[in-house]
Amino acid sequence: MDAQPARFPERLLVAIGGNATHPQDIRGTTEEQLKVAADAALALMPLMTACKQLVVTHGNGPVVGKILLRQFHARQLVAPMRLDVCVADSQGGIGYLLTQAMENVLARAGNPRLVACVLTEVEVDRDDPAFSAPSKPIGPFFSADDARALAGTGWQMMQDCGRGWRLAVPSPEPKSIVNFPIIQTLAGEGWIVVAAGGGGIPVVRAADGSRSGIQAVVDKDLTSGLLARALGIEHLLILTSVSRVAIRFRKPAERWLDQVTAAEMRHYQAEGHFGKGSMEPKVEAAIRFLQAGGKRVVIAHLDEAVAALRGDTGTHIVPD
Ligand code: ADP
Ligand code: MG
Repeated sequence: MDAQPARFPERLLVAIGGNATHPQDIRGTTEEQLKVAADAALALMPLMTACKQLVVTHGNGPVVGKILLRQFHARQLVAPMRLDVCVADSQGGIGYLLTQAMENVLARAGNPRLVACVLTEVEVDRDDPAFSAPSKPIGPFFSADDARALAGTGWQMMQDCGRGWRLAVPSPEPKSIVNFPIIQTLAGEGWIVVAAGGGGIPVVRAADGSRSGIQAVVDKDLTSGLLARALGIEHLLILTSVSRVAIRFRKPAERWLDQVTAAEMRHYQAEGHFGKGSMEPKVEAAIRFLQAGGKRVVIAHLDEAVAALRGDTGTHIVPD
């Protein structure tokens, strides 16, 4: 048992990273994914017990990237799915594994709480400038040589903060959560809700209000902040693959941040300390969330959720 009890907020949105739920070093077999989901569920267990309202969102970068690669290699045999459908596929697959793993740990602890996974669409603007400038890294990491070969076959490739080359796709701003009323109702009734996987399935609205999918991957951190605020949740916990946010990341005089204000983060962001498409959107989501009335954002390692809520680790971002 932990010596110091964590101060769990009653209402919390936890965003878990695509890279934390599908690490670089796994091939992606079902057995590996089950293990990763079980570990994530164990990490979330204290929150599932303590928080009266708990909404869990997750990334899908590595998984949707692998779906695209599979399609690419099988394209002569099977028609590829459009990117919005790939996002929906990844939401379903990850949501299935995560929900099952979460209910398994709850059941083992004799906790009758159930988990609902809500297929979530997110409205974006068809004129978003992101559509003409793909910026989101997804899928596996490639060497420079392999990246050049893939680029030659029509893929957009980008470097992901020194870790290697990845596929790049448009990542428009999330405007609103289409399935919000369902998420709100379920969370309000005490169900643990898994929602907005992969940032949500990107859709646009026609003049008559009807919606249709559009090819993009929305950043899950921005969607998570938006969803938390829409729900009136004041605490956002972003769990990823690093313990804290750094300035001068991987450079001389690197410094890990403990507690900072939104204004300080805005300043560091303007100085370019945060990786585009990785840490930068988390920081942006955090700042927006606090400006919209949120009380605290904690960015921490997936395995350190409880310690981070206790204040022992993580980067804590607070209003000015
Ligand atoms: P997730 O899948 O959780 O969204 P990402 O890989 O997108 O994770 O973002 C987390 C990664 O951001 C870290 O593993 C780290 O390599 C990278 N990163 C970029 N800039 C920073 C920074 N300033 N501080 C900490 N990590 C950073
Ligand atoms: Mg990310």
